[in-house]
Amino acid sequence: MSTLSPDVIQRIRSAKNILFLTGAGISSESGIPTFRGEGGYWKTFKAEELATPEAFENHPDVVWEWYDWRRGICLDAKPNEGHLTIAKWQSLSPSINLITQNVDGLHSRAGSKNLLEIHGNIFRARCTSCREKFSLGEDGINQPGLKFCPVCESLLRPDIVWFGEGYDNKLLTKAWELSKVAHIVFVIGTSANVSVPANLALTAIRNGALGIEINPETTTLTPSMQVHFGGKSGEVLPEIFKEVFPDTKRN
Ligand code: NAD
Ligand code: ZN
Repeated sequence: MSTLSPDVIQRIRSAKNILFLTGAGISSESGIPTFRGEGGYWKTFKAEELATPEAFENHPDVVWEWYDWRRGICLDAKPNEGHLTIAKWQSLSPSINLITQNVDGLHSRAGSKNLLEIHGNIFRARCTSCREKFSLGEDGINQPGLKFCPVCESLLRPDIVWFGEGYDNKLLTKAWELSKVAHIVFVIGTSANVSVPANLALTAIRNGALGIEINPETTTLTPSMQVHFGGKSGEVLPEIFKEVFPDTKRN
């Protein structure tokens, strides 16, 4: 059903460097709400109002309560066919990379190895004063609400890049490098409203990559893409994989 043209199939097959860029949409079929779709609200708050340094400064208890609730959703969720197809694709070659905006951990649970989580991970916290990182949940700090650093007793915060905050420089440098050398860039389930991920996609395209977008809606990136699939990534990705590698056995 995906139906790529023969020349696009050929370009994908002969591409050495493939880059997958994913956003919240790839996890929506696993039951994790996107920020801008339905479920982007908690109590009376909009997600984009809580994921900010100002919200944490004013109401750290509310922000932690929200993250505790979201972490529970992520823990109960399972990787879907979209995550699993990317992981299977990556197992074929070390030059197939994945940059995600998602913090839910589903890509690594699906088995993805070459993975940059540029917005952090919901299962980690870091100290607001000594910056030490800790894992949260069953194997780490797990009390609900406010959490404190076992080293210096200062307040912990989610190890997440919030709206208005800068990125980890090392991760970002690596992400730019990967975009520049990509021959194919798949942009999956991202609204492109956050400028860094959108620019990573555009950088790849300006450097000659063929852009393939998978998103039920069009985005500001759509006009720059050679191919747009207006379907769900959990359905479209396995079909693309089958067309590109017709002889590879499923799992
Ligand atoms: P977004 O919520 O702004 O946009 C999600 C996009 O996914 C939309 O364009 C939507 O049309 C598309 N989409 C919905 N269902 C889809 C499907 N089945 N297949 C393919 N596409 C689908 O998400 P964003 O662009 O990733 O940005 C929001 C920010 O919020 C990110 O920075 C991210 O860190 C964070 N966030 C993360 C998670 C997560 O970890 N799962 C969830 C929500 C938000
Ligand atoms: Zn500390």
